[in-house]
Amino acid sequence: MQQEDVFKKLVAHCKEYGFVFPSSDIYDGLGAVYDYGQNGVELKNNIKRYWWESMVRLHENIVGIDSAIFMHPTIWKASGHVDAFNDPLIDNKDSKKRYRADVLIEEQLAKYDDKIEKDVEKAKKRFGEKFDEALFRETNPQVVANREKRNVLHERMSKALNDNDLEELRRIIIDYEIVDPVSGTCNWTDVRQFNLMFSTEMGSTAEGSNKIYLRPETAQGIFVNFLNVQKTGRMKVPFGIAQIGKAFRNEIVARQFIFRMREFEQMEMQFFVRPGEELGWFAHWKEFRMKWHKSLGFGEDNYRFHDHDKLAHYANAATDIEYRFPFGFKEVEGIHSRTDFDLSQHQKYAGKKIQYFDTELNESYVPYVIETSIGVDRMFLQVVAAAYCEEEIKKDDNSVDKRVVLKLPPALAPVKLAVMPLVKKDGLPEKAEEIINRLKFDFNCQYDEKDSIGKRYRRQDAIGTPFCITVDHQSIEDNSVTIRYRDTMQQERLPIDELAAILKEKTDLSTLLKSL
Ligand code: ATP
Repeated sequence: MQQEDVFKKLVAHCKEYGFVFPSSDIYDGLGAVYDYGQNGVELKNNIKRYWWESMVRLHENIVGIDSAIFMHPTIWKASGHVDAFNDPLIDNKDSKKRYRADVLIEEQLAKYDDKIEKDVEKAKKRFGEKFDEALFRETNPQVVANREKRNVLHERMSKALNDNDLEELRRIIIDYEIVDPVSGTCNWTDVRQFNLMFSTEMGSTAEGSNKIYLRPETAQGIFVNFLNVQKTGRMKVPFGIAQIGKAFRNEIVARQFIFRMREFEQMEMQFFVRPGEELGWFAHWKEFRMKWHKSLGFGEDNYRFHDHDKLAHYANAATDIEYRFPFGFKEVEGIHSRTDFDLSQHQKYAGKKIQYFDTELNESYVPYVIETSIGVDRMFLQVVAAAYCEEEIKKDDNSVDKRVVLKLPPALAPVKLAVMPLVKKDGLPEKAEEIINRLKFDFNCQYDEKDSIGKRYRRQDAIGTPFCITVDHQSIEDNSVTIRYRDTMQQERLPIDELAAILKEKTDLSTLLKSL
């Protein structure tokens, strides 16, 4: 499905069901800035909790911090962001739309990949059981030709990015006749560098004011607190510091819903290790973070690593965890081996020694760093995109009904249980309230008495509530209810006393954490 179509559907669903609203909606919104609604904030908090507990609580040697968004401006000089946090942008003169030059070329690369996969799929169907996929990929002339073209383009792009050769990036776009998807033309401007940091001023008078930046990543708040945490927490290398917080980037392309925002949230962990041991730890965190994603149950085949061609100025290894969105594989998380770059830079710019004395080795050194960095909002989009299903249901009279259901992992679902009295009388609402009052300390429950039961089920399906229970006249007599399961829509009769145990087993975050 086209990216635009998927976004349209998800944007509409997220808005209709209180997950995500455009920021400043009554003023027609603000580009690439969004607010989370009543269900969105619950889902977002659950994602953050899953990350925090799995990183901080489950690892004895990882602790958390919460550093300020405003930081000393020299930090961004030291980190390289003032000089090098740029994206290459290009404008189409006809549509007046702005693009990232590297992204346009990457999309062209993806087209070659698609062609190859289509040829393989076709051949698979044609040859059936006898099909030797590896041999076909190696020898089929069309596949070989497309792979060759892809590799040539890939190499050219990597070199241009590494050399910071903006003219060459433009030439690639022209040579490969990459057109603007909006205007369909190849009428491009030059490629220019654009710094992504927002700045503002701190200080009460204009003369006394100081240009400061809104942090473009949370990582630097961790680096500048390295000594504070290491000393006060008596931390021994290897150890990690984790943080969840807002970051700001003046993104060039702002048409991707919450995939690319100007104000977003990151969950980052910096893991400090002995120099020389970083690549082993890099492999360790790659594996752990992939497991974290796969444990959500959205399908093993929907994830892959994408190793970086262009390493950032600070890294000696880097990979992305990509998820197969309905519009193709896209980055959700980055894992980087950042060497001792950041701590050494702060040591230099702050003029203070930032070292660790390793009692086992009896020597001091600047630790090396492995970073895991994931966007909360992008993860939110991944979860919603993966969970969103449109289903056709055959009714008893053979007519077909449609339902939209969010098949969220129960631990992440905003509401765990909806309690519905069959009718608004005969003591049923009171019985329903009684059940909620018993369960609400441990589970987010919702009371719903409006409309038919069918409509109420649809509403809960659309927000991903894993369990609905119906309170009827029998409930008053024997303290039992009907429980209805979201995914199978099966129903069964249960004693009210058993509800808490079922909900705990199925929706508790610890079940998810134990699978790691
Ligand atoms: P991209 O290549 O997509 O711009 P990046 O490589 O610059 O991303 P990092 O700097 O590695 O991203 O940031 C780590 C994570 O933060 C990303 O994997 C993504 O999940 C998230 N992230 C980065 N920029 C944004 C943004 N503008 N909006 C939402 N999430 C973002």
